[in-house]
Amino acid sequence: MASKTKASEALKVVARCRPLSRKEEAAGHEQILTMDVKLGQVTLRNPRAAPGELPKTFTFDAVYDPSSKQADLYDETVRPLVDSVLQGFNGTVFAYGQTGTGKTYTMQGTWVEPELRGVIPNAFEHIFTHISRSQNQQYLVRASYLEIYQEEIRDLLSKEPGKRLELKETLRRVVYIRTLLFCHQECQERGPKEARFNLSLSTMGNVNGALAGNRSTHPYRDSKLTRLLQDSLGRNAKTIMVATLGPASHSYDESLSTLRFANRAK
Ligand code: ADP
Repeated sequence: MASKTKASEALKVVARCRPLSRKEEAAGHEQILTMDVKLGQVTLRNPRAAPGELPKTFTFDAVYDPSSKQADLYDETVRPLVDSVLQGFNGTVFAYGQTGTGKTYTMQGTWVEPELRGVIPNAFEHIFTHISRSQNQQYLVRASYLEIYQEEIRDLLSKEPGKRLELKETLRRVVYIRTLLFCHQECQERGPKEARFNLSLSTMGNVNGALAGNRSTHPYRDSKLTRLLQDSLGRNAKTIMVATLGPASHSYDESLSTLRFANRAK
């Protein structure tokens, strides 16, 4: 069985910046975001800086610059979490950022080209390779896929496009979504031993930066994301947040807001 998660391992926050798009290049947008991969730092320069205003630097568990490959993020950051899931921890990976910054690219990627596959197909391959090699265990894997956009939860696997889902809470205040169980594995040892454990890996695709809503008071406390993650941040659980960013000057405000949210999540 998994032991209690150390606080330092429970939540990892990483930042990823996509390349400048052709459209941004053509429009002459300058690059205002730089990353120091060795130090795990992101530096953001205000394109409308007041005299004497210094660029702002944020430090994360890891940063992935525009040249990073899907495999870099998976192998360094996600693979250890999925290994923990296979040992009995609960695990969650989610991407947070403004529209157009690479959440879908990071979580889903392009399924057909192996090197462009994102976290979700890589995690499935990892899990099913493990299952195919294990001899004395039986597994049940269930998957679901959702998006939180402006405080609405949508089922991305539903046949009814845009189908909304409601958050529910049990009497013991466990938050769940009716009919939805993320990627949930159950594993039972074959043979005389009756040991049983449940494994669960949540990979949420698109968590949009706009969900924060009113910034003046406690902006995230009651958000759907926070409530949904309540159990992911509990005991025996590990979570990875990938903050996705655009490099161009026109996204300064959104980039700063994502970096501040990611910084507070640590
Ligand atoms: P979001 O899901 O946050 O709205 P997308 O994942 O759709 O954003 O990304 C927007 C665009 O940027 C897409 O064309 C995507 O292919 C491209 N993109 C995003 N991240 C990267 C990256 N790390 N490397 C190359 N292209 C990227």
